[in-house]
Amino acid sequence: MLMSEAEMARHLLGLVDAVRAGLPRVTVDALLNHLELKRIDEEPPGGQEGLYVRELQAVFLSPKIRSAERKQFTGFHEGTHALVDRDALLREQLAELCSDDQAERRVIELLCDIGAAEFLMPRESFVPLMRSHSPSVRCIQQLEAEFPGASLPAIAQQIAHYTVPAGLVLVCAHGSIPGAGAPDRARVHIQYSFVRPVTGSARCRPRPRLYQPIRADHPIAAMFEGSAPFSGTTYYPYNTDKRIPCWCEAIWHSPSSRVVAILTDKDQRQPAREQQSLSFE
Ligand SMILES: [Zn+2]
Repeated sequence: MLMSEAEMARHLLGLVDAVRAGLPRVTVDALLNHLELKRIDEEPPGGQEGLYVRELQAVFLSPKIRSAERKQFTGFHEGTHALVDRDALLREQLAELCSDDQAERRVIELLCDIGAAEFLMPRESFVPLMRSHSPSVRCIQQLEAEFPGASLPAIAQQIAHYTVPAGLVLVCAHGSIPGAGAPDRARVHIQYSFVRPVTGSARCRPRPRLYQPIRADHPIAAMFEGSAPFSGTTYYPYNTDKRIPCWCEAIWHSPSSRVVAILTDKDQRQPAREQQSLSFE
């Protein structure tokens, strides 16, 4: 039987749980050792930040990644690529579900972000805390207080997975855009974008491209100029002149001087029925 993205994600979480339980510490190196993957600290042949190569049973991690947080998230993401690749059921389902390579890549990338987040911010810890607070980016500080050293992208992915029905969770920064060539002027851009896996035939929001700049007239950009946290209607920051309206709730993450934003098709202040109960399996 054909599995939906959400069912594949649940299956993957079972694989992650089993691996995680066998790790002496939850670090990238412990994961790669456990999976018998070689770590290669070089830029992958395609110039990406990270790459899993089946033929080499190796994970490339580019030395160009400057942030320890990003290197860590990328390491867990690439390790999850191996988990997906080695699982016959997931491989078969991906081939069945996805009409072409691009669709398959999109689902694999989604699964690998879900796996990376699960290693760094397990749902057993995340979901009860979100249940006791209203699901919103405002919970991030509480989560970080309860889990010192929690990874912001992992939290953002979990928010996208368990609390946002149809939309995006973005982590945005101000600075030069990696790979844009030096000297590049500092711009507000998207560092991470996350979506949830869909059920049935639903379509998820496409993710903006990596390091997509955000226009100066967008409320997220205004927050880097000192504007207050934003809550209201605006548009999805895709690289297009077409402005798709959305509801946005954005907070300033002061420890890292970044903005974390939930963008959804509907106003989150009036949750629909399916949004009120967090799905957690
Ligand atoms: Zn990937």
